[in-house]
Amino acid sequence: MSDDEGGPDEELGEDGVGAELCDLCGAVITDDSELYALVPDSSVIHSEDAKFDGKRFLTACSREHLAELVEQYKQRPFVEEELWAGKIGRAIEQHGGRVSAEELMAETGLDQSQIDRAVQWQNEEALRWRQRFGGGDEPED
Ligand SMILES: [Zn+2]
Repeated sequence: MSDDEGGPDEELGEDGVGAELCDLCGAVITDDSELYALVPDSSVIHSEDAKFDGKRFLTACSREHLAELVEQYKQRPFVEEELWAGKIGRAIEQHGGRVSAEELMAETGLDQSQIDRAVQWQNEEALRWRQRFGGGDEPED
């Protein structure tokens, strides 16, 4: 997916109080006319609550833009391993960087084979990223 943040920088009215940004065009919405949708996205991990994992909250300035955003996310592959890797990452973080395999399964609700697949997926992702961008740095999130 291209990362074009090319939306026009609209004037920020009223110090941005209550303003929302359209996720598609970047327009600032200040008159409460924004529209919302919830779409599946395996890269979304809630910081605490697992029931919000895999769901992205979209904001749009118009019905047309909301429809286009929803369409874009429909085309994004929902990768279970990506979602699982995110859950594992959160569990590790909540345990201060150290977690046993048993705790990990309890926290994430995943079984050992799912955890293995997620770890493998993440390793492959890191490899792909390095091949693409070079250097030894991991992608920042
Ligand atoms: Zn828009």
